[in-house]
This record gives sequence, structure tokens and C-alpha cells, in this order.
Amino acid sequence: ALHITDECINCDLCPLECPNDAITMGDEIYQIDFTRCTECVGHYDEPQCMAVCPVECIEKDPAHAESEEALWTKFAALH
Ligand code: SF4
Ligand code: SF4
Repeated sequence: ALHITDECINCDLCPLECPNDAITMGDEIYQIDFTRCTECVGHYDEPQCMAVCPVECIEKDPAHAESEEALWTKFAALH
């Protein structure tokens, strides 16, 4: 899964792009639900949230590193 760092400026762009509805507003900034983020595997060739983020504050979540196979399994479970 990916996560959003505290550099987020709440531009509202990334939630619209997520095919898994994984991005919601948190207490102060947007956050990614790691149980729903497939890193866009199954939908797109690259993470759509990273592609639109103007401040590049979305990155791989070291606490929730997943293999390509695990991401495909998650995709199948979600859809
Ligand atoms: Fe959603 Fe894809 Fe970003 Fe994960 S990488 S939060 S699935 S847009
Ligand atoms: Fe925050 Fe980047 Fe998402 Fe905009 S696109 S809300 S700056 S994480």
C-alpha cells in the first residue's frame, strides 16, 4: 500500500482518482486506507494518486509493503 506524508496540502485531487475508494480526509490531511490500496494493481499501470499529486507527498508505506502477488489478491477480494 501507499501512504500520504504530512506534506499533503489537501488539494482534493487524489481521492477522485482512486479506483478503490481508499483515500479519505483524515483529521488534518488526506489518508490512505491500506486495506483498500492495491497501488492501482488491477486497474492502472501506475498509482493514479501519485500521478496527480502536485507536491509528490504519496509514497510506498514501509509499514505495509506488499508483493505484486499480494496486491493482485487484494484487488480480487475488493472487486
Ligand atoms: Fe488508490 Fe491507487 Fe493511490 Fe492506492 S495507489 S490509494 S489504489 S489511487
Ligand atoms: Fe494531498 Fe497530494 Fe492528495 Fe493533493 S493529491 S490531497 S496534496 S496527497
